[in-house]
Formats: sequence, structure tokens, C-alpha cells
Amino acid sequence: MIEIKEVEGFIISQVPSGDTSLIINIFTKDGVIGAIAKGAKTLKSDLRSVTLKFTYGNFLLNYKKDKLSYLKEAKVNELINIRKDLTKISYLSYLVELTNQVLKQTDETESLYKIFIETVLKIEEGLNPKVLTNIFELKVLDYLGVGINFNCCAKCGSKKNIITIDGDVGGYICRDCYTNEIIYDEKTIKLLRMYYLIDISTISDLKINESIINNIDRFINIYYDRYTGLYLKSKKFLNNIKELNI
Ligand SMILES: [Zn+2]
Repeated sequence: MIEIKEVEGFIISQVPSGDTSLIINIFTKDGVIGAIAKGAKTLKSDLRSVTLKFTYGNFLLNYKKDKLSYLKEAKVNELINIRKDLTKISYLSYLVELTNQVLKQTDETESLYKIFIETVLKIEEGLNPKVLTNIFELKVLDYLGVGINFNCCAKCGSKKNIITIDGDVGGYICRDCYTNEIIYDEKTIKLLRMYYLIDISTISDLKINESIINNIDRFINIYYDRYTGLYLKSKKFLNNIKELNI
């Protein structure tokens, strides 16, 4: 049965379908919906400009459950600020690839969609993409089943005398369990927890010291390598870009 349905979503990928059409995959709060955009590859098509990869908007569909739907029309935000900045596009590519992996491991698409879109829109607004990506990375660890325990020492469970945090150990380390890990300052440790807890939609500015930003980024990179089992091409590319920027 076909029904007309409007969905809000984000185009995470598109592939050609024949010579003139495209299939777009739209990430929505209910999961990923595939839709054929007939004629979208032709120059005169109204669908051409609204079916670009990494476009956010409202899509009017002839919707078929569990099959390909048909795109009728769309009103979109092309995310032009991200699109004109290679670094930001690299962050977005990574966020999309990571989200694709997370989608394979969770049914909680509604909350995942919410934090994904909020992150993307804050980057589009001009807030620091490294910080926002780190916040997103911390939040999706729970969906991947390897969330960080921000309440106690990762080795012994003690809540007292936390002195640092370590990506290999997988969380906080207390004074008694400390061996030779890097000691991060208190602000870094506190902010990491705040990153995890913060409601992304409420973020209006991110005045954070550059060295703290980089400490947190380093911690998350080590943690991801150690605990998620993910190896993403876009992450490698992004890390190369980060190095160029430093
Ligand atoms: Zn301990």
C-alpha cells in the first residue's frame, strides 16, 4: 500500500538508479528510508538540488513500508556553511559514517537521530566541530554498548580520589589504582563528563581552552581504538586534517 507521507530527515547517501534517477537514503527518527528520486540527475529536475548527499530537510514521499518509496518533493537546508569548508565536511563525513555503524547496533533510532541532527546543525551554526564531534562520539558509546562510566574508578569502582582518566583503562583512575597513566588536569576530567551529559540543543557557545579540547579529543581517540572495534576511513582522513590544522 502506498501512502503520502512527509518525513524530516538527513540524506546520508545517494546512488544512481539508471541514467537519470537517484536512490537516496534518508536517516529519520524511525530509521533509514530509501526513496527513488525520479529524474533527479537531469539538469532541469526540481529534485536535483534537494537530493544532494548531506542535505537536511522535509521530504514528501509516496511511502511504501519496507520497500523503496518515491520522492515527490522536498524542502531542504543544504547546510551551506558546512559545505563550503573542507574541514567541516570532513567532520560531517565522519559523523555520517559513524552513525551508519551505530545504526547497525541499535534500535533506538529516535534519540540517535535527535543527537545527530543537533550536532550537525550546531556545526552549521559555526560552533567548534571538534568539540561537537567529541560530544557526539561520547554519547553514541552507549548505543555501541561500550559507554564510559563517569561515576567511579574504572579499575576498582571507588568514587573517591579520582586523579585522572585514561582511554586504554577505559575511564577514571583513582589514586590507589594509579600506575603511570598521563595525569590530565581537573578541568579536562570535568569537561569530559559534561560533554557526555550535555543536551546538545542547548549549547550556544563553546569557550574551551584549546589544550583541553585536544586532551579530550586524544582521550576519545584512544578509547575508540581500544573499545569500539570500529575502523572508519573518514576518521583516518579527519585525523590527517586535524594534524594539518595544528
Ligand atoms: Zn581505583
